[in-house]
Amino acid sequence: MKIAIIGAGLAGLSCALTLEKYGYQADIFERRAMVGDRFVIAEAMFSIFHSPFPDVVKYLSESHDIHLKPTTNIQKLHIYSENEHSFLDGHLGFTNMRGKHQESYEKQLANQLKGEIQFNKNVSYKDISKEYTHVVLATGDALDTKKIQPYNVAFKATFKGAAIEGNFNQTEAYTFYNNHFAPKGMAYVLPYSDSEASLVLVYPQYPENEMLVKEELWEKCLTECHRRLDQDFKVISEFSIKDYRIGKIQTPRIGNTFFVGNCWGAITPLFGFGQFESMMTGIYAAYDIVGMGDYEKLIQPLSKGYHDSLTLRRTIEKFDNKKLDLLTKSMRNELIESFVTSKKFSAMKILSNIIHPYFRKS
Ligand SMILES: Cc1cc2nc3c(=O)[nH]c(=O)nc-3n(C[C@H](O)[C@H](O)[C@H](O)COP(=O)(O)OP(=O)(O)OC[C@H]3O[C@@H](n4cnc5c(N)ncnc54)[C@H](O)[C@@H]3O)c2cc1C
Repeated sequence: MKIAIIGAGLAGLSCALTLEKYGYQADIFERRAMVGDRFVIAEAMFSIFHSPFPDVVKYLSESHDIHLKPTTNIQKLHIYSENEHSFLDGHLGFTNMRGKHQESYEKQLANQLKGEIQFNKNVSYKDISKEYTHVVLATGDALDTKKIQPYNVAFKATFKGAAIEGNFNQTEAYTFYNNHFAPKGMAYVLPYSDSEASLVLVYPQYPENEMLVKEELWEKCLTECHRRLDQDFKVISEFSIKDYRIGKIQTPRIGNTFFVGNCWGAITPLFGFGQFESMMTGIYAAYDIVGMGDYEKLIQPLSKGYHDSLTLRRTIEKFDNKKLDLLTKSMRNELIESFVTSKKFSAMKILSNIIHPYFRKS
């Protein structure tokens, strides 16, 4: 077997590590000069969205020999709407670094790899596929998938983000649902130390949002974050992303070509999490290649998770600020809080099953 992995990100590296575990070496191509050669940002993995795995880091380590050291663990998640505030607490998940940061998850994965990565190799599927028996497409970009098969885009997202300095409790994260500055989207502050955090504003590029001026929304977002966190934190560096495609493909494998990570559709549409899904699709593709499983069957629960998440998004994005206030307020109800944070079952799955018939009619 001659295996190529295009892209040394979370999905590609998880695939490579799993192949190595079972004695197979892949040729790994990375277009950048080193792993994670992009802006630094904190991301999160919330165990509550990955039922039945109450601790995703432990699960990846014990079940798949992929060992990650998160930056912080999240014990409290604040939820802010225009006029309400509530929070979830307990062991909710982890933050981790991405990009150039020396402890970024992609660097941690690369450090566990025995084989080499070929850097500065911006390869195309068309150019290399004939040389290999198996190709794993892991470029993190839906547009690469679209060159090979249809990719159903649920929506394109606009991001504006910043590294900020202030006084934080690194075990507490903050989310904001307010259509005034995050129309049908959200903003969040993810601390990665007691003095540094990532602030991100993300919203879908629906036609009704196209006329909005991103910088104006960003200013409103900053004002609200200053107010809610009761401090004037300092913006250190900024980034901006447009046309980030969130969607999924129908066919996860075509012949011996495997679509993993974002190339498959790893991002869950409701909150935009995709790290765990990316790693799992990489691991599952490797299982299939070494003859230990069927990729299409293994990823079915992830696929279902994507659709549940999309159903919930389509419902919540119809909410105006008044309804978002009500939803936020309802989180203060102990029963609702324990339902949402339960590790015994997936609240998202249950809610989506309840909503789905209604959603289909509307
Ligand atoms: C601003 C932002 C915030 C996010 N926050 C979160 C979060 O908090 N939690 C969460 O779970 N998810 C989050 N996500 C989503 C998550 O980051 C992605 O789902 C995940 O990184 C996708 O992994 P991947 O392996 O598919 O792609 P990547 O990790 O992006 O890796 C792709 C790699 O392929 C390389 N490459 C691309 N093209 C080529 C080519 N032609 N040849 C060779 N190499 C190539 C790239 O350089 C890159 O190294 C966020 C995404 C964004 C944009």
